[in-house]
Amino acid sequence: MRILLVEDDAMIGEAVSLFLRDSACAVDWVKDGVTAAQVIETGEYQAMLLDLGLPRRDGFELLHRLRQAGNDLPVIIITARDSIQDRIKGLDLGADDYMIKPFDLNELIARLRAVVRRHGGRAAPWLTNGTVSLDPASHEAHHGDVTVTLSAREFALLHTLLLAPGTIFSRTALEERIYGWNEEVESNVVDFLIHSIRKKLGGDVIKNIRGAGWLVDKPRT
Ligand code: CA
Repeated sequence: MRILLVEDDAMIGEAVSLFLRDSACAVDWVKDGVTAAQVIETGEYQAMLLDLGLPRRDGFELLHRLRQAGNDLPVIIITARDSIQDRIKGLDLGADDYMIKPFDLNELIARLRAVVRRHGGRAAPWLTNGTVSLDPASHEAHHGDVTVTLSAREFALLHTLLLAPGTIFSRTALEERIYGWNEEVESNVVDFLIHSIRKKLGGDVIKNIRGAGWLVDKPRT
């Protein structure tokens, strides 16, 4: 899951991005509203964490323009402003959730999982295509009789595939979901992770389409 963090406070930005990376998210951190609007255009993100008091364009304005443009990226507002009016305004402008600083980082990631899940039209917390299941909270994966806990990177890769069963992801697309801007991509990391996931769960869990990329099967109906 790739998250856009929009926050101009250095300490909070550092703490949140470190925590999210440790929780197997790729995080891109920008510090003003105009840069945020530009990078959202890439369409790379599964959710945005949005501060309200920002240089160049504040969070309300950014959110307003985003929704006006028809962009339905899940947004959680993170702010020190604790007035009820601000909360109502944020939600009415199209935010999906709201957290008041200082917040608990474990709660933040649980809420992130929840908004991404609802955005995908799912109520159940685990992801499955009917063959393999993944619990985003515990990083446990199930396939047949096998239950294993995946490493952070293994989880990030399988999570990406299971958010869109039947969709082929290229090597670059997978790397983008696993790594943020400032992280160096290790060579052959995608092959390495797919190999280790198949070793843990079985070779048929992830399919390879030669020359195109990898996918998990669509659920059978
Ligand atoms: Ca701020």
